[in-house]
Amino acid sequence: MIITVTSYKGGVGKTTTAIHLACYLQQQGRDTLLVDGDPNRSSLAWEKRGSLPIKVVDERSAPKYIRDYENIVIDTSARPETEELQALADGCDLLLLPTTPDAMAIDALSLTVNALKTIGVNHYKVLLTIIPPKPTRDGEEAREFLTDAGIPLFKKGIRRLIVFQRAALQGVPVYEVSDRSSRNAWNDYVAVGKELING
Ligand code: ADP
Repeated sequence: MIITVTSYKGGVGKTTTAIHLACYLQQQGRDTLLVDGDPNRSSLAWEKRGSLPIKVVDERSAPKYIRDYENIVIDTSARPETEELQALADGCDLLLLPTTPDAMAIDALSLTVNALKTIGVNHYKVLLTIIPPKPTRDGEEAREFLTDAGIPLFKKGIRRLIVFQRAALQGVPVYEVSDRSSRNAWNDYVAVGKELING
């Protein structure tokens, strides 16, 4: 399975998602390679700060490694231009589009989704990320908006939890951080990983 995690807008949890889903797939006993194709090389930087249970490689080194792995997760940014999206879509089984629930991110996501519709790409799914806690209703409102627009969406979203930032700083998956919310944080990605595998 090849999963490409992409977004036009930065700061929507793309790298955090790529890392945690790759860790989840690895835990399921499927050798997983994370290919860093983001110009910021954030996944590689994460791994260098600490340690991850997955192999992370620069996209330019990927050809040598991919044959040895069952699953490939690709972390990359993309402009919502049809040619670029077409190439990314052609190269994966699922395009995973993370978005935060705020208006600016949803607008940016809409550009991408419209471009995907134009080129007839259907194998994409949106993940709501960095969802603020109650009583804020941003997450629910974004979910209603995207559902009404007929956009495929992961059933579970990822909550906004500071422990994700600590994980990035320490260079580890969130379940390695000693913090009382690390289990909740990891469980959010486990739910997404399960949906990924089971459909
Ligand atoms: P992108 O790759 O889209 O730029 P990142 O994964 O690097 O996004 O995340 C952007 C910032 O938000 C980072 O500081 C990261 O630690 C933080 N972050 C990501 N996901 C969450 C979350 N669920 N809760 C809180 N902070 C998060």
